[in-house]
Amino acid sequence: MAEEADAVSTPPARGHADPSAPDKGRRDGPLAQALAPVAGFGVSFSTMFRKIYTEEYPEKPRPTEPRYHGRHQLNRHPDGLEKCIGCELCAWACPADAIYVEGADNTDDNRFSPGERYGSVYQINYLRCIFCGLCIEACPTRALTMTNEYEMADDRRGKLIFDKDQLLAPLQQGMLPAPHPMPEGADDQSYYRGEVGAATPDQQAWVQQRGAGADPKGQGDA
Ligand code: SF4
Ligand code: SF4
Repeated sequence: MAEEADAVSTPPARGHADPSAPDKGRRDGPLAQALAPVAGFGVSFSTMFRKIYTEEYPEKPRPTEPRYHGRHQLNRHPDGLEKCIGCELCAWACPADAIYVEGADNTDDNRFSPGERYGSVYQINYLRCIFCGLCIEACPTRALTMTNEYEMADDRRGKLIFDKDQLLAPLQQGMLPAPHPMPEGADDQSYYRGEVGAATPDQQAWVQQRGAGADPKGQGDA
């Protein structure tokens, strides 16, 4: 008797239907039974009368949503110095281990960013990146952001490891390519307070003197 009671109270194994339970989803009406073999065609039939929508990609790529997570960009300050300070926080935040950073010290003759350090080596491996955006959340200087660019497919794995030159934002009006000094009297805090604007004549002269390909009018190569 005890075995019989156990058999009755034991629930069905996972994934198996309980033979004693009523079939709630079943249609028993004669019309439903008659239409059952062709019911699946209803979806196709209703779709036939909808407007046809064809995306002509890649001839006419559509713009993405404004906050789409695409290729990364390493940003610059208004005078062209780099915002990246080589702190590696982005690399530590990355769940896919896709970022590699090596920091180095700025000097008066070789300054790439305000403050003590800059990112001398910066790589993102797009074979690993899942475009989650955690790296840009971690960046303390807003040096790293993401663009809307998504056409990054290639036929060589090595080409999908982007280095600093590929990731750096293009020079805009008033910017000079680093390295160059900060403006007279400015320090790293001045940059974070937004007190530094386009490159000054002194900075332009410094770059010209160094012969690092400066644009005397402060025009970038973008
Ligand atoms: S978007 Fe995500 S996966 Fe890609 S580099 Fe940043 S943190 Fe790593
Ligand atoms: S991109 Fe930002 S978080 Fe990454 S090393 Fe540069 S400053 Fe640090």
